[in-house]
Amino acid sequence: MSQLRYNPLLRTYTMVAANRQNRPHMPKDWCPFCIGSGRVPDQYDVLVYDNDYPVLSPDYGTAGLTEHPAATPYHQADAYGHCEVILYSSDHNASLHQLSVEHITKLVHVWKTRFLHYRQDERVKYIYPFENRGEEVGVTMPHPHGQLYAYPFVPLKIRTELDSCRHYFAEHHRCLLCDMNTTELEDGRRIIAQNNHFVAYLPHFTDYPFGVFVVAKQHIGSFAQFDDATAQSLAKMLKEVTGAFDKIYDRPFPYMMCIHQTPVNSTEYADSATYYHFHIEFYPPLRDRDKVKWYASSEMGAWAAANVVAVEQTAVVLRDALMRYRAEQTIVFEHKGMQLLALPLSYLQQSVDEPNLLVQQLGLPAQNIYNPEHWVTILRNEIIPEVAANPQIWQYYTRWLVIDTALGAIVCDMCLQHGIDKTGSLEFGYGVNIVYEGQGYTTRAVACLVQWATQDANIKRLIAETNRTNIASIRVLEKNGFRCYKANENSFWWELVLD
Ligand SMILES: [Zn+2]
Ligand SMILES: [Zn+2]
Ligand SMILES: [Zn+2]
Repeated sequence: MSQLRYNPLLRTYTMVAANRQNRPHMPKDWCPFCIGSGRVPDQYDVLVYDNDYPVLSPDYGTAGLTEHPAATPYHQADAYGHCEVILYSSDHNASLHQLSVEHITKLVHVWKTRFLHYRQDERVKYIYPFENRGEEVGVTMPHPHGQLYAYPFVPLKIRTELDSCRHYFAEHHRCLLCDMNTTELEDGRRIIAQNNHFVAYLPHFTDYPFGVFVVAKQHIGSFAQFDDATAQSLAKMLKEVTGAFDKIYDRPFPYMMCIHQTPVNSTEYADSATYYHFHIEFYPPLRDRDKVKWYASSEMGAWAAANVVAVEQTAVVLRDALMRYRAEQTIVFEHKGMQLLALPLSYLQQSVDEPNLLVQQLGLPAQNIYNPEHWVTILRNEIIPEVAANPQIWQYYTRWLVIDTALGAIVCDMCLQHGIDKTGSLEFGYGVNIVYEGQGYTTRAVACLVQWATQDANIKRLIAETNRTNIASIRVLEKNGFRCYKANENSFWWELVLD
């Protein structure tokens, strides 16, 4: 028996799926999602798989929902809808973050395709891809997978958000989630990561210690508005966020991943694209390595949430975990005899609170540690506000920071030579900033290592490596005791000299 039963107290439906209690116990070590099970093709990367025990199905009849129920408090309707499983990979032991960006991008495309498919069904009102991960949230099948429900009604939490966003829009003529993004970016303390299209943060109010929201930077409502670049950005962001999760306690980190987007075929929310905004909410149930945050009487019975920590603290922990995750993603390679280390540039931005850790990560000798307080001050007061004020700067952070590990000097990530920027100017301020201009962007990388590179012996080596005879003109920039020799506009070489 499967039904939707109306809950008149909450004005929503309970999905009753009595068949799910009879789910057979699978033989141990047998996985229906693994190749060779007889249930899946001989080869796949991302696969849509029919839910064997759906809570909603077209097979359950088509008796529609009643908007305004009869005089009696109780009524029910057929559990019409769709449920499917989306297998992330044929590898039984893979995690989302272990898949390549290309692979995860395919998953995002599947979400989009299924969204476009199900919204053609007029009876479907809300399409909800999600993932439960880990035993703590009841997952018995470790094979990496998510699910998708296509509901014949707009679920209560989504309605609540829609109503709040509509209300906010009516009052302020702005989108609530757009304003949340702005507020979080201005504050900065709870930002975990960002790229061209998405920003991840622990919202000011979130009730879970690591309850990250991944929010679209542009005002988009649903997967329908995703282009290829947006899909790839989301893939990168999900890889980083879930990768960081597993680094927090160095164990697979359970979570619920909930994708919120505009409803479909809804007359009530027909205009929701103006005031609602695509975002993903994570609910990781751990509050310590082995401690589950239970949804107890206050949370469940009164919907009065409690968070045992301030998320400004957990944001530091999560950024630190992200750094450790990224450090494993760095590329070490050799080029013309140089031992090079390539880091995603955003790695540096994340290290605001952990400058010493950064130096350790880079494997630099201990005496090279600059004054962390000074550096943090510069980052806090100068660089972060600038980045927040100029979102296009983040364009740059999709590039790499390449470091000569022997010299501790920065290498151009495009030409792999020391201190050359073909397109613009290079300038040292405070000994820690490099400004690149050109090719449609003005960006600033934080180059703490320059300080080390300016020490005497290192300077000589640096000059030897960068000294060329084809300098057309030289402009000397002096800041905080560093001098930079600059050539003509199109190409230049630079040297550093201590006063
Ligand atoms: Zn499997
Ligand atoms: Zn918006
Ligand atoms: Zn939401």
